[in-house]
Amino acid sequence: MSSPTIKTPVKTPIKTREDYINSLRNRKLKVYLFGELVEDITEHPMIRPSINAVAETYDLAQREPELATAVSQLTGEKVNRFLNIAMNRDDVVLQNKMQRRLGQLTGTCFQRCVGMDALNSLYSTTFEIDEQYKTDYHEKLKAFISEVQKQNLVIGGAMTDVKGDRSLAPHEQADPDLFVHVVKRTGEGVYVSGAKAHQTGCLNSHWLIVMPTMRLTENDKDYAIVGAIPVEAEGITYIYGRQSCDTRSMEGGEIDQGNANFGGQEAMIILDNVFIPDELIFMNGETDFASMLVERFTCYHRRSYVCKSGVGDVLIGAAATVAEYNGAEKASHIKDKLVEMTHLNETIYATGIASSYQSKPTKSGAYLNDDMIANVCKHHVTKMPYEIARLAQDLAGGLVVTMPSEKDYRSEAVGHLLEKYLKGRADVSTENRMRILRLIENMTLGRNAVGYLTESMHGAGSPQAQRIQIARQMQLEFKKQLAKELAGIEPRRREQMTGEIADYFGRVFDTKV
Ligand SMILES: Cc1cc2nc3c(=O)[nH]c(=O)nc-3n(C[C@H](O)[C@H](O)[C@H](O)COP(=O)(O)OP(=O)(O)OC[C@H]3O[C@@H](n4cnc5c(N)ncnc54)[C@H](O)[C@@H]3O)c2cc1C
Ligand code: SF4
Repeated sequence: MSSPTIKTPVKTPIKTREDYINSLRNRKLKVYLFGELVEDITEHPMIRPSINAVAETYDLAQREPELATAVSQLTGEKVNRFLNIAMNRDDVVLQNKMQRRLGQLTGTCFQRCVGMDALNSLYSTTFEIDEQYKTDYHEKLKAFISEVQKQNLVIGGAMTDVKGDRSLAPHEQADPDLFVHVVKRTGEGVYVSGAKAHQTGCLNSHWLIVMPTMRLTENDKDYAIVGAIPVEAEGITYIYGRQSCDTRSMEGGEIDQGNANFGGQEAMIILDNVFIPDELIFMNGETDFASMLVERFTCYHRRSYVCKSGVGDVLIGAAATVAEYNGAEKASHIKDKLVEMTHLNETIYATGIASSYQSKPTKSGAYLNDDMIANVCKHHVTKMPYEIARLAQDLAGGLVVTMPSEKDYRSEAVGHLLEKYLKGRADVSTENRMRILRLIENMTLGRNAVGYLTESMHGAGSPQAQRIQIARQMQLEFKKQLAKELAGIEPRRREQMTGEIADYFGRVFDTKV
């Protein structure tokens, strides 16, 4: 299937990391950083590490195709797994395995999952909108997905609006632009304005998919808009998000950066009368389906956070290494802390992968992972990386925050003093000890703490959002009946109790799995 009207932003399909990086050059993007326009994002030292992290997804697809590619049910061709629609449980599970691997390889956010989860949640939601309203969103989406699969492109998922006053609905805000909305409709499509905050990898993408961020009411019709927009579309301004210690990448050297190669990326996207043609609109006014889309997107995305277990593997490795370099690795409390870090890290992975294994087909045929366990996974992620980071800093020692700069280490004046006094174990070089300490700093306080800690807190929704979803599905009445039956308060027949198993427990006890 293809659509001749979808103009793709690249001339030839992307295969390698070099093709990908080249595809980001010479685009006329309006990107501001430190109040100035960025000429070429691929050459900017603060931005380049985030591009390298996405490039790693292309490399992995070539090196480990079983993990990072899939056969598309739309085209019958092998495609990057980030662009594939999961049509069975294995597809969903393998997304998680790929995410853990990429977390290990980059030690940061590799950015492509938001688009993957957006395409998958839209696939089933558009199917159900069409079923109810006789619209043609699903066919248009399939044409779009087939095209981006062929070209092997990066998709950014733009859901979070800036939101203004959190107690008010979109149509109640003092400024209507605080949520992205339709400002004009023509025979060919719509024009949208507003802003999306915290947009992961948006500059490193080829397409953005704008989506509503919350449940909408009848009065929010203009806010119920979903569409695909080329990243270089007219009317878009990007303002780059700062990260802790980000300017270290502009100082020269590489030790102080901690992880000089890889980083994440977030920017604010401001849309000023941006056109979306009809063939790229996948929801337009169906307010009653906004919550389905948001819930399915967050269901996929909250278990996508197993990426953090891959990043956690790196941090645990760094903590074990620094303990060795300090000569402390044999102490029982050190071993115990590494066990604790591993236990926490595997708890994140276990809940994410369990959610994926408990996937079920939607009406469209696409598989959706278990919402209860996805929320439990993400809720763990809002806490456990912080504890893992605390333990890593414990093992690192105070030098992780007081160590002099690489420039001092390389200087004639004091370099020899640092070489002598920053030494740990005699058989380990001072430079290597400095490098591992900087990596721990990078992941727990520096650039990649954005991805490992605060993104873990708020990405895919702040902690309370998961607690609401868990509360909705916790089936307390059913649990109370179990207790009352055993306590002899309300004895009931076993057959009756078995017949009442539904919803989450229906999935837990589904013997067809
Ligand atoms: C690093 C990072 C990357 C991200 N990447 C993406 C991305 O690629 N795409 C995307 O669309 N989004 C992305 N997000 C956005 C993410 O989904 C939001 O940060 C999250 O939904 C929280 O929204 P907020 O940041 O506006 O915080 P707020 O909504 O301001 O929340 C702050 C606090 O206020 C509470 N709160 C908010 N509203 C209410 C209310 N009405 N009643 C009671 N309490 C309330 C929250 O529970 C929280 O405790 C990213 C976020 C981060 C930090
Ligand atoms: S935070 Fe994790 S799941 Fe989200 S885009 Fe980054 S790597 Fe993917």
